[in-house]
Amino acid sequence: VNDRSNSASETPRRSALPVAHDASVGVSDSAARELRDRSGRRVDYLRVSVTERCNLRCTYCMPAEGLPAAPDTAALSFDDIVFVAQTACSLGVDRIRLTGGEPLLRRGLTELVRKLRAETDVRDIALTTNALLLPKHAQALRDAGLSRLNVSLDSLRADRFERIARSRLLDETLRGIDAAEEAGFGPIKINTVIVHGFNDDEVDLWMERIKERQWIVRFLELMPIGEGAALRRLGGFEDVSALRDRLIDSHGIEPTDAPHGNGPARYWRVPGGGMVGFITPMSQPYCDTCSRFRLTSDGRIRPCLAFDVDVDARPAIESRDSQALRRFFGHAAEIKPSGHQWHGGQTTSTGMSTLGG
Ligand code: SF4
Repeated sequence: VNDRSNSASETPRRSALPVAHDASVGVSDSAARELRDRSGRRVDYLRVSVTERCNLRCTYCMPAEGLPAAPDTAALSFDDIVFVAQTACSLGVDRIRLTGGEPLLRRGLTELVRKLRAETDVRDIALTTNALLLPKHAQALRDAGLSRLNVSLDSLRADRFERIARSRLLDETLRGIDAAEEAGFGPIKINTVIVHGFNDDEVDLWMERIKERQWIVRFLELMPIGEGAALRRLGGFEDVSALRDRLIDSHGIEPTDAPHGNGPARYWRVPGGGMVGFITPMSQPYCDTCSRFRLTSDGRIRPCLAFDVDVDARPAIESRDSQALRRFFGHAAEIKPSGHQWHGGQTTSTGMSTLGG
């Protein structure tokens, strides 16, 4: 177990994690079919980062000069990732999301999707991307068996996009969304981090576009992770629960119970077409229903986004020792915290580009 807690925050607070073994959690026997943590939550969802590299420099994710990203030569191979997925499936994981960095920068990603579809029991394979490379890859990803994709896009205005993403590639991003729709991935789901003072005045524009394109747009709160911690201290936090209440009044959005993904978003129907979702880790935390682990591109299992703690599973992965890897997953379940402590000033130094969002 590696604990690399808080080195970059202004008011770092290292939070105690339970690390003692407990036979009732994790993987206590070699025939175990599921993964449960100390809070009784079942882990069935794995987010797999395939690269730390990115072709944008979003302000809440990276400094302008970027972060030192591990080269892809240091990343797990596709066969390694398939082995992890097979082992995770033996423990009840049935949903995988490929993340980064920007996952489409990893050469041959389509082949990984094809292998996961052919060689594992994963039911749902999803991708989170900034869309820039979708014109080139969307159809091949669809043909390889990718179930769904989410696009990260924080502004529809060229000036704002440039300010947030430090790039002038808004038109290319929108072309990527078009390509995804043409490949049959619709309705497209878009993730938008609402940063107070940056893009919080664009909500009406989003609502227009949602109706026009039948998109599903999810508004996310800024989390105190990596660069996001500094933005929050500068007043960047926007309460997305309050935004939802405003949209009920101003746009008549209506709640829906229909499941539209595997994550914590709650969805509301937009009269006229499309949907909005709200992801509220700060104003209405959902840690009590968390069912996810993360795998970093270099083979560490990260049980919680909020703590710089992980389990280095690479030796078991590279030696194809499935029993050892199952035990590593079990250790990760044992140390999975019941939830974040961000309201108490706790933060995370590992950046989003390493964690896979
Ligand atoms: S903060 Fe940790 S426990 Fe809470 S939802 Fe995120 S990963 Fe799960």
